[in-house]
Amino acid sequence: MHKVIILGGGPVGLSAAICLAQQGVESLVIEKHPTTTNHPKARGVNGRSMELFRSWGLEDQMKQYQMPREAYRFTWIEDLQGKEFTRVQATVDYSPYSPTENAIIAQDDVERELFKNAQCNPLIDLRFNTEMVHATQDDEKVTFEILNKDTNQKETLSARYLIAADGANSSVREIFNVEMEGMDNLGVFCNIYCEMNLDKYVEHRPSAGFMFTRPDVRGAFLLSKKGHRRWLVGVRLDEEQNLTEEVFTDDFCVDYVKKIINDPEVDVRLINKAFWTMAALIAKQYRIDRVFLAGDAAHRLPPTGGFGMNTGIQDVHNLAWKLALVLNNQADESLLDTYFTERVQIAKTNTSWSISNAKRFETIFVALAKNDLITFEEALKDQAHHINNILLDLGFVYGSEYQTEKRYQPSAEVGARAPHCWLQKKNVRISSLDLYNNQFVLVCHPDAHTWQDQFSQFPCKIVTIGEQGDYVDTNHNFLEAYGISKQGAVLVRPDGHVAWRSTDENGDLASFSWLSSS
Ligand SMILES: Cc1cc2nc3c(=O)[nH]c(=O)nc-3n(C[C@H](O)[C@H](O)[C@H](O)COP(=O)(O)OP(=O)(O)OC[C@H]3O[C@@H](n4cnc5c(N)ncnc54)[C@H](O)[C@@H]3O)c2cc1C
Repeated sequence: MHKVIILGGGPVGLSAAICLAQQGVESLVIEKHPTTTNHPKARGVNGRSMELFRSWGLEDQMKQYQMPREAYRFTWIEDLQGKEFTRVQATVDYSPYSPTENAIIAQDDVERELFKNAQCNPLIDLRFNTEMVHATQDDEKVTFEILNKDTNQKETLSARYLIAADGANSSVREIFNVEMEGMDNLGVFCNIYCEMNLDKYVEHRPSAGFMFTRPDVRGAFLLSKKGHRRWLVGVRLDEEQNLTEEVFTDDFCVDYVKKIINDPEVDVRLINKAFWTMAALIAKQYRIDRVFLAGDAAHRLPPTGGFGMNTGIQDVHNLAWKLALVLNNQADESLLDTYFTERVQIAKTNTSWSISNAKRFETIFVALAKNDLITFEEALKDQAHHINNILLDLGFVYGSEYQTEKRYQPSAEVGARAPHCWLQKKNVRISSLDLYNNQFVLVCHPDAHTWQDQFSQFPCKIVTIGEQGDYVDTNHNFLEAYGISKQGAVLVRPDGHVAWRSTDENGDLASFSWLSSS
C-alpha cells in the first residue's frame, strides 16, 4: 500500500509530492495527460511561493523563466496601435521582508521545473498518461482504479491517504460528494495561446500584460510570456456580441488576435486555445477522512487576484508536514483537521480580494463605456494597490483575522509566517527562512537557557541566534523582528509558521498538546 497518492500532476500535485519528499514521505503522482501543461494560465508567482521554491532548491531554476522586472506592469491601451492610457506598475520591494521576491513566470514553465525536480527525487513516483477512474475509501485506506492510457490496462491501487489536486472540475470532489459554496459563473473566457512577433508594438514599453479598451475588443487582454514571442490572449464570451464558444474556431481566434493588435498583416500562429469559467467557489470541507482536496479542487478563485495557483501550492505546503507527522506516528490524526481550518480562511480572504478586483474591472469598463475618465483613472490607481499587496502574500496568519487593507508588518505571533532576517555562519549568509523546512525549529538568543532546556525534550532542532550563537544576527534585528527578549523563544513549524512563542522566560507550553504528547 502506498503512503500517499496524489491525483493531478499540475502545479499543486507536483508541489505536494515535493513537499512530502522534503518530509521524507514517499508518494505516487497520477496524471491523466502525458506531459505537464502546454498552456500558460497563471503567471503571477507570489513572494511566498518563491520562498517555497527557494526552500526546495528551485529558486534559481524558476528565475530563469521570469519576465524582466521592468516589464512588471499592465498597460491600458485602446489597441496595440491606439492611444495608451496608463501603465499600472506591479513592482514592490520585497527586500525588507524576504530573501526572494515575487516573479512573473508562466505556469507551463513552473510546472516543467516542478516536474523535473520531482522526476529526480527517489521518493516520488510519477505516473503520467494515467487516469484515475474511480476511488473509494474505508477506515484504513483509499482504493483507486486507474487506467494506463499507454497500455489501456486498468490497475487497482491503494494508499493510506489521497491528496486530490485534480483541478477545478475535480472528480474526487464529485465522488465524495463535497459541495462548494460561492459564485459558480462570473463569466466564460477563451484563452488564445499564440506565437507572433509584436516587437515593433511592445519593445519600447515592455509589459506583462496589455488591457484593451477599444469598444469592439474592450475587456480583452494580451499577456506576454518571457522570451518566446508567445502571447496569451483572453476574451470574455458574450452572447450579445455574438462571442459564443462555437464562434471561436481556430480561424476566428487568429482574426480576433489581429483585431486587438489592429494589424491584419501580423503573422499569428495559434498554439492552442482553452475555455474556462471564472468562479469564486470554496469547498465546504477539504478533508473527507483519508482524502484531502487541494488547489483548484478545493477552491476556485477568480484569476483577477492572481492567487489560484499560489494558494494551492501553499495548501499542500501546509498539509505535507502534518501528514508526515501522522504517518510517522508522531501526531494524532486530529492534526489533519487543522489543514481545513487553517487553509480555508486563506482561500476565503484571497477569494474576496480577487472578487474585489473583478468588480474593479467592471467599474473600469462601465466608466469607459460612459467615457468617464475620472472614475476610470481612480479605479486604476486602486488597482495598483491591489496588485502590490505584500500583506496578502506574506502576512497571512493561521487562526486569526487579519486586515487586508493594512500595511504588512512582519510578525512572529502564533500562526504568522516567521519573519525573514539575514543570518551569518562563518562565510555563509542565510535567511532565517532557510532554517524552516522539514522539522520544528526553536529559534532563540544564546541566553535563552530556560527554553533551550525545556525544548531539548521535544522533537525539534534548537538554533541560537546572536553573538556566540549558531548564527550571527547580521542586521541586529532578530529579537525585534521575532518580538522576543534575549530570554524568549519562538518555535517554528516545518512550514515556516509560528507554532508557539514566549516573549521572555515566563511563557507556557500548555497550548501545545499535540506535539508534547508525541
Ligand atoms: C487566465 C488565467 C490566469 C491565471 N493567473 C493566475 C496567476 O497569476 N496566479 C495564480 O496563482 N493563479 C492563476 N490562475 C489560476 C491557476 O491557473 C490555477 O489555480 C492552477 O492551475 C491550479 O492548479 P491545480 O494543480 O490545483 O489544478 P490544475 O492545474 O487544473 O491541475 C490538475 C491536474 O489534474 C489532472 N487530473 C484531473 N483529473 C484527473 C484524473 N481523473 N486522473 C488523473 N489526472 C487528473 C489534470 O489533467 C491536471 O493536470 C490563472 C488561471 C487562469 C485561467
